[in-house]
Parts: sequence; C-alpha cells; structure tokens
Amino acid sequence: MFDARTACVVVVGAQWGDEGKGKLVDVLAERADMVVRYQGGANAGHTVVTGDTQFILQQIPSGILHPRVTCIVGNGAVLDPEQLFAELAALEAKGIGVQGRLFVSDRAHLVLPYHKLLDAASDRSQKLGTTGRGIGPTYEDKYGRRGIRVGDLRHLECARPVLAERVERANRLLELLGSGERASFEQHLALLEAWAPRLLPLTADTGLLVHRAVREGRRVLLEGAQGALLDVDHGTYPFVTSSNTTAGGAAVGAGIGPTLIHGVLGVVKAYTTRVGNGPLPTEASDPAGLRLRELGGEFGAVTGRPRRCGWFDATVVRYAVRVNGLTGLAVTKLDVLDTFAEIPVGTAYELHGRACEELPSEVGVLDQVRPVYEVLPGWRRPTAAARKLGDLPAEARRYLDRLEELAGVPIRYVSVGTRRDQIIEV
Ligand code: GDP
Repeated sequence: MFDARTACVVVVGAQWGDEGKGKLVDVLAERADMVVRYQGGANAGHTVVTGDTQFILQQIPSGILHPRVTCIVGNGAVLDPEQLFAELAALEAKGIGVQGRLFVSDRAHLVLPYHKLLDAASDRSQKLGTTGRGIGPTYEDKYGRRGIRVGDLRHLECARPVLAERVERANRLLELLGSGERASFEQHLALLEAWAPRLLPLTADTGLLVHRAVREGRRVLLEGAQGALLDVDHGTYPFVTSSNTTAGGAAVGAGIGPTLIHGVLGVVKAYTTRVGNGPLPTEASDPAGLRLRELGGEFGAVTGRPRRCGWFDATVVRYAVRVNGLTGLAVTKLDVLDTFAEIPVGTAYELHGRACEELPSEVGVLDQVRPVYEVLPGWRRPTAAARKLGDLPAEARRYLDRLEELAGVPIRYVSVGTRRDQIIEV
C-alpha cells in the first residue's frame, strides 16, 4: 500500500467492524513510521497475534507492537486513561517500551466514570447494544460543548468548577433515566489529579506531529476503528457508533487536511458479521451462521458477545467503497470458509420485488430488503499456509475475483489466519 506516492494511508473497516483491521494495521505498520488512531475509544478492541502472544489493544494503536513506530491517539478519539494505563502496563509486562513514541492529543476528550454510568443507564432505555464504555456520552458532551479534554489536565484549578458542574449534571441525568447510580465529585477530582502527571508527559499537539511526518515523507497509517456501517452519518442509524468511522473522519480526527491522504484501504471479512442490534440483510440462518461463528471465533474482543454472522454482502461493500473513497480492499478470514461446500454471496438487494441498487438510508427499509444470492463453489481445502495467490485453490481465487468484481476496487491483501505471516500481498 505504501509507495513513493502514497505516504499517508487510511485503513478502515468496510462492514460492521471487527473485520480484522488490527491485524492489517499490524502487518502494514512494519513498513510505517507512524500509526494514528483518529476516532472511537476503548469500545473498539483490536486483536493482534504476534508469535504466541495475543494483544488486545483498545486505546493504543496496534502499531505500538513495532518498536520503531510512533503511535498517536488523535484529537478525534476519546480517551479512557485507566484503559490506556492498563494497556501500557500490559505492554511493559511483555517488554514493549513506549518511551518517546506514544503521544496523546491535548484536544482528545476524556472518558470519565460518569460517562460510563450514563452509558449503562441510557442503553437500558434506548437498547442500542453499546459496549457500556462511556464512549457515546463522551461524544455527546464533546458536541454539546461541555467535554473535558486531555489538555484541561494542565489547568486543574480551572477544571475543578467545571467538573463540579458536569458531575452534578450527570447525576441529574442519571436520576431522569431512572438509574440509582450517582457520580462522586471527589472521586472524579481525585482521578483527574492522579491522571495529570501520568498523562501530560504523553500529551502533544498531535495534528502537528502527523502533519510534519507526512510532509517529511514519512509513512503514516491512519487506523480506523469499527466500520463504515457503524459511522454516525453513513451507518445503519441509530444502530451506529458516535463518531465518523469513514475515511473522511480520518483527516478531522488525526488533525490534518484531507489533501495529505493518499490512499484508503478498506478491510472486509470474506463474509459478514455484526455485533449488537440492527439489520443484517445477509444474516445466515443456522446451522451455517453458527458454523461461521464457531470457525471464525466471532465473539466480541471487548465484551465477549457472540457476533451475528452471514454471507458477504456486496451492496454493503460497494457502499463502503463509495463513502470511504476506497482505493483498495483487504479481505480477511478467507480460511474461515475453507470447509464450506457452497458459499452464497449477496450480490444485490430486492425491495418489494424490485432491484434496490444502493444501501437504503433507513434501517426500517434495510430490514425489508431481500438479498439476491449467487452461490459459489467452496474449495474444501485449508488456505492457512498460502502466501501468494497462486497457492490458493482455484475456487478460492474465483471467490476472491468475484468479490473484487462486485466491489469494484482491487484486492490488495488477503488474510488467511490470525498470525502476522498469514497474509497474501496481491
Ligand atoms: P478489528 O477490530 O477489525 O481488528 O477486529 P477484531 O480484532 O475484533 O477481530 C478480528 C479477529 O479475527 C481477531 O481475533 C483476529 O486475530 C482474527 N483474524 C484476523 N484476520 C484473520 C484471518 O485472516 N483469519 C482468521 N481465522 N482470523 C483472523
């Protein structure tokens, strides 16, 4: 993906998240100088396997596993310091140092305990199936212009009265939502006081760092969390996340102009999954759905919740190609399909007997579409050892060719297992 003309590349999920972006970023980071998280928070868990060790990184970019790479939590992300410190400790325990190569934007908003209480209380009434990590309420406060940002830790005396007002407001909201929980001002103040000396040394104007890196010709990866269909504008609203997961959000959330971005890689599974509620047109009925879940280990990295599974949905991916301006695709988890004799692919939708070419904007309508399937022959052979396209069975290559044709952008990578080396560069 990186060449002389593409120094700054965005990696986004092109379905409902969990596509294996963490693994792709880990593979690409080997050639990168900087990796930036630009949206979301500790609600997105990337799982990266190196050797025998598995890392689940929610707050820190997965590029951190490469010792030469500088990692940034950008202004568009929301930061849960407790989670960040826990991940730092886990990395340290495995001998991975971050000194001088991890920076957090002073403009990033802080996730506070009252956000988590509000998240739990609102999900009881709104039933969106959130991860309960306080991300939604933190973004609500950001856009409501009452957030507390990392940079505010520099001026705790000024933050104090603001914090008192925010805690009081949160408690009024909790009461309104029928929650028995209450936030404590003293606890919040003590947390900010404890976080400040640990967080401030990592704090920087990170947009400037990213800008300089791109301008100097360094290779920069902007790492998205979740997926296109969870984007707050372009996703299956209201069953979406609270930020712009699509590539446009990368410029804003990393703090650079869009003209500095040269390429956008969309990560898709060879099939489809989603966690939480909302429509999933190509959801596979059991037992195939259960088989995909078991073989693909489709359980949430953060919550352990089983994911709903279905077949590749070309309408979704074509839409993701458009709203992200994808320049290439990475297809992951091809190996999960190894034992299927036949593999349906959703090529289009029908709505009330008529062709429906584009993804409907309303979930109520998306719920009513019927996928049109094409059934491709399976390969019924393991693919995990393939390292080039020619190593794959002919049926697997045909399957990929068809996905590429339906998506309308070239496949640049195919992943055939969890390990770093289980990747085919096309
Ligand atoms: P992310 O948030 O998009 O990084 O996705 P997750 O980390 O939630 O889920 C991806 C899961 O799939 C992780 O457990 C990965 O180790 C695993 N994974 C990634 N690529 C492959 C692959 O090609 N084959 C298999 N079997 N697993 C993969």
